[in-house]
Amino acid sequence: MIPIYQPDLSGNEKKYLNECVDTTWISSKGKFIDKFEEAFIKFTNASYATSVNNGTVAIHLALEALGITKNDEVIVPTLTYIASVNPIVQVGATPIFVDSLQSTWQVDPEDIRKKITPNTKAIMVVHLYGQSADMDAIMQIAQEYNLLVVEDCAEAFGTYYKGKHVGTFGDVGTFSFFGNKTITCGEGGMVTAKNEDILNKMKHLKNQGVSPDKQYWHDIVAFNYRMTNMQAAIGLAQIERANQFIIRKKEIAELYKSYLKDASVIVHNEEKETVHSYWMTSILVNNSEDREKLRDYLKNEGIETRPLFYPVHTMPMYDKNETFPVADDLASRGINLPSWPGLKNEDVELICKKIKDFYKL
Ligand SMILES: *Cc1c(COP(=O)(O)O)cnc(C)c1O
Repeated sequence: MIPIYQPDLSGNEKKYLNECVDTTWISSKGKFIDKFEEAFIKFTNASYATSVNNGTVAIHLALEALGITKNDEVIVPTLTYIASVNPIVQVGATPIFVDSLQSTWQVDPEDIRKKITPNTKAIMVVHLYGQSADMDAIMQIAQEYNLLVVEDCAEAFGTYYKGKHVGTFGDVGTFSFFGNKTITCGEGGMVTAKNEDILNKMKHLKNQGVSPDKQYWHDIVAFNYRMTNMQAAIGLAQIERANQFIIRKKEIAELYKSYLKDASVIVHNEEKETVHSYWMTSILVNNSEDREKLRDYLKNEGIETRPLFYPVHTMPMYDKNETFPVADDLASRGINLPSWPGLKNEDVELICKKIKDFYKL
């Protein structure tokens, strides 16, 4: 079986983790947390960053720190993972869905414009599958209408827009280090901030609202969203080799493109002036029937795939009978292919051969 994802833990992960156990520093204090945060800031060139225990709470923390609350509307692409949307509801605000662009699969800036109302507070940008959204257009809209911007970069570690790492354009950027993300901590996350006040709010909120000056004195209702030293130990070992992972993932994407160039599928492309980190190499087939048949065929051949995300507006708690033609279309025809750094060239060749065989049936 070729799995859709498998993390590479063959660096210093075990050594650092053993050090946590040997020294008993297993909880949310310890040197690996500081080292991982420093390495993350160095890698992304973010102004500020602080670690959290997963990518979903990273988004919740961002919305809380930015003061998003009841009666506020947050614009979010419907074609995303559920975790981009739930925290909007959890702070009491309303998600307003927007469509995607056929060319990049990223949020459609023109549709954002159409959905702005006097209640709009923020735009949640998602950099889907390692591609970057059109940040110039989005930041322009945010400026015109005085909106906050949160960038969900869970799938976009190593993704750049015009030379800048994603997550450094908006007010806050959020990252995930789940087991199948480009770098992993098992579970883990990070928030970046442009502004030190927002960073300090997020640090305060993630740590039970404890006063910075007085131990065991809590001055707001807050959360425990802290990362552990063990998570950070794995994260540090991962970020030490992040460039290798990203280079390999891009090589794999290029291999897919070359082997599939005469097949009747479209491979998710890299836009001009961006670096696509290819979290998952993804394809579009001709229609939704083929999508299901091809996925079944590959499964029988021992190849695991995933469908593109079901648009969030179609899920029961968000279903208001809206339609988003591009997102609905992409989601019905898209497949994520195995895309992990340890995948061998022969595996990619085999997967592509099977895709082409399917079309000859
Ligand atoms: C993975 C992911 C998240 C959530 O991250 P977790 O660490 O799994 O909580 C949020 N948004 C997107 C787009 C993701 O892919």
